Amino acid sequence: MEINFLGKDLFTCIRCGLCCSNQFETRKELLIYPEEAEVLIALGFQKKILVEIKEDLVFPDTKNKVLLVARYKIKFKNNLCPFLKENLCELYDNRPIICRAFPLIVKEKSNEEFEVVLEQSCEGFKMSKKNIDEFSDQSAYKKYFPSELKYLKDVFKKEKSILMKLQEMESKGKIQLGFDMTKDEYALALKEWKRLDLFTDSDDF
Ligand code: SF4
Ligand code: SF4
Repeated sequence: MEINFLGKDLFTCIRCGLCCSNQFETRKELLIYPEEAEVLIALGFQKKILVEIKEDLVFPDTKNKVLLVARYKIKFKNNLCPFLKENLCELYDNRPIICRAFPLIVKEKSNEEFEVVLEQSCEGFKMSKKNIDEFSDQSAYKKYFPSELKYLKDVFKKEKSILMKLQEMESKGKIQLGFDMTKDEYALALKEWKRLDLFTDSDDF
């Protein structure tokens, strides 16, 4: 992985590729949104890279008997992201937003409370560890990682827009979310219902 950064004295990516492997607790799989999935699958196909993609976040719509897919995950193969080649990203210009935000990550503080933190297991920080203390102040993120912070905010926005889109579609009577489904009903839906991607930036779903 290659990163644009401003704080050269604080962080230097040594291209070890660890952030594209499952070495970090926070990056065991690659989480992507439906818009990104389309691009990644097409690029994977072009580059003859076998990509195993699974649903990560789905919402049952009992009105239309469909499962709305809001997020996917790409399985790591032999502990590595399938797009990593010789420690470089094969789709660097098209990499998902979650990768663009790294080494900034989201960590759960307490119940449903999240904070922005640095992935300090990243080898790039070991060279200047003493500086990391500076990051107890949140303004340091903006100072040293402005573009990564922007991408991380995009992730937050995306998650919020998924919920807003669902609420909007339900209030317009287009869908009925199946929060009252039993476990068995949900299991059957997972097995039998067709899937529709939930695109948050268009009227389609
Ligand atoms: S883990 Fe850190 S140093 Fe290694 S490739 Fe990723 S960003 Fe660079
Ligand atoms: S898509 Fe690229 S940057 Fe993201 S985990 Fe895979 S190889 Fe790394």
